[in-house]
Amino acid sequence: MALSDRFHGIVILGAPGSGKGTQAKLISESVDLPHISSGELLRANIANQTPLGIMAKGLIDSGNLVPDDVAVPIVRDRLMQDDCKRGFILDGFPRTIPQADALNSVLHVLGMCITLVPYLRVSERMLMQRLMHRLTCRVCGTTYSLVSLSPGDICEKPDCGGVLFRRSDDDPDTQRKRIAIYEEQTAPLISYYAERHILKRVSGEHTVDYIFRKLLEAMRSSRTCDQI
Ligand code: AMP
Repeated sequence: MALSDRFHGIVILGAPGSGKGTQAKLISESVDLPHISSGELLRANIANQTPLGIMAKGLIDSGNLVPDDVAVPIVRDRLMQDDCKRGFILDGFPRTIPQADALNSVLHVLGMCITLVPYLRVSERMLMQRLMHRLTCRVCGTTYSLVSLSPGDICEKPDCGGVLFRRSDDDPDTQRKRIAIYEEQTAPLISYYAERHILKRVSGEHTVDYIFRKLLEAMRSSRTCDQI
């Protein structure tokens, strides 16, 4: 059966800078599934100056998490849209155990499940290096390295045209804080999903292509909702 012929409920786990967004985009393009990034959804609210965006901006800029009761409804509403019927790739959500429990309840109501949780392992040294050099496209969220491009350059994706910028939470002090919060609040999700037999550990220190191939392999052998 082709990968695109079956349901995939994917949650990509990993620290900030581990390459979750890059891999989520690649899977989304190759299997035609929606890439749902909670960070992107929040940044869109900030850009549109919605009440939620105004509330979230200070927390995001200082490297803190937004409260679960803000993050959960945003993702729940997105999962209820029609394009998620064949599956989804969640990037940056859940980030806490209560969010993971809430996600299970939402998926249960929607008749969906999580079929695979790839966990991208990257050393703290490499995370710091990557975030220090990261540029992000304001339109499509694609990330680039400051080594080859500069803020204000234009995204290289065909038909995008977005301007590249440095995220305000990518400065070294905020990075350290985000990684510490990840260790404390998000890393416990590794055993949470391992206990449910859906975790797949992948080294995030290989090339983008190699990791992508590993993820496709894992998707081929992942279980269906009936088997979980
Ligand atoms: P990201 O783009 O995933 O790195 O997220 C950027 C920032 O948005 C995070 O540092 C948090 O402040 C906030 N954020 C994104 N997703 C969540 C979430 N699931 N729970 C709480 N805060 C989040």
